[in-house]
Amino acid sequence: MLISLVVPCFDEEEILERFHERLTEEMARLGPEFQLVYVDDGSADRTLAILQELAAVDPRVRYVSFSRNFGKEAAMLAGLRHAEGDAVVIMDADLQHPPELVGRMLDEYERGHDQVIARRTRTGDRVTRTVTARAYYWLINRLVDVELVDGVGDFRLLSRRTVDALLELTEYNRFSKGLFAWVGFRTTTFEYENAVREQGRSAWTFGKLLNYGLDGLLSFNNKPLRAALHLGMLLLSVALVHAAWIVGVALVKGVETPGYVTLLVVVTALAGVQMVMLGVVGEYVGRIYYEVKRRPHFLVKATNTTTAAPHRTREPQEFVRR
Ligand code: UDP
Ligand code: MG
Repeated sequence: MLISLVVPCFDEEEILERFHERLTEEMARLGPEFQLVYVDDGSADRTLAILQELAAVDPRVRYVSFSRNFGKEAAMLAGLRHAEGDAVVIMDADLQHPPELVGRMLDEYERGHDQVIARRTRTGDRVTRTVTARAYYWLINRLVDVELVDGVGDFRLLSRRTVDALLELTEYNRFSKGLFAWVGFRTTTFEYENAVREQGRSAWTFGKLLNYGLDGLLSFNNKPLRAALHLGMLLLSVALVHAAWIVGVALVKGVETPGYVTLLVVVTALAGVQMVMLGVVGEYVGRIYYEVKRRPHFLVKATNTTTAAPHRTREPQEFVRR
């Protein structure tokens, strides 16, 4: 049995060697044969150089280095393509995903689970972040078809058939959290205490998080479009009732001229609603635009491996409507 460990790294020079040491020690203790697939996501620091040094002394180290920063989703995809293991563990390079938990994942894998998910608790997080996360998951689970769970991230073990299934999903906009859930198979979750980042800093800014959240909302189905339609229908009915009332009043009492404020409020509110709806439609069009271009998810600048699953060139299978 071979275990692959996929590690996306973006500007992780400060911690990478320590991470590698801790992980290899832990894996040696656990015993299975393993390989490490590091993906350098276009780091501007010495990350690639460190990976090359590690690969020179340790034949279990594979690295793939991107031509620029393509984002963690692309890095995970590259890692999965290059991983040869019977099971693959995806983890962060910043030691926020404790290597000690890999053993537990392997136990669950041996019990027959296809996805073993480590779910972090939110201890140590800022209150604002916890609250927004709660609200977000409440909302998103009403809008998407798959169940997304707060605290569940990319730290997980995937069986070979799960990895193969994920690689079948060739969409350009990759929202892994949703993709993992979409794939399914036998899944189990356990909790771990969140570790605070030791070195470097999180690349997640508020703007990035917001966009990530929107991606999640929009990348799974057309329910936001449907919601926009419903809202439009609701507003139309309100407007019709209001119009009938105004006409009625005019017929009974004659025409009154005031109403400037009401008019202004209605016009601006409707304009706002229309802009939002247009934005939602635009988002979907934008997504279609990216998908039809069929650009690669990433470009490789340097690597010591040639084992990537072949780029899929076949046409997507016919669309199946749910
Ligand atoms: N990462 C990446 N590309 C990016 C941003 C992050 O490969 O554009 C990697 C990063 O090196 C780390 C993991 O993804 O291994 C998680 O990133 P980070 O710690 O910044 O995110 P957080 O822990 O705050 O969710
Ligand atoms: Mg982190």
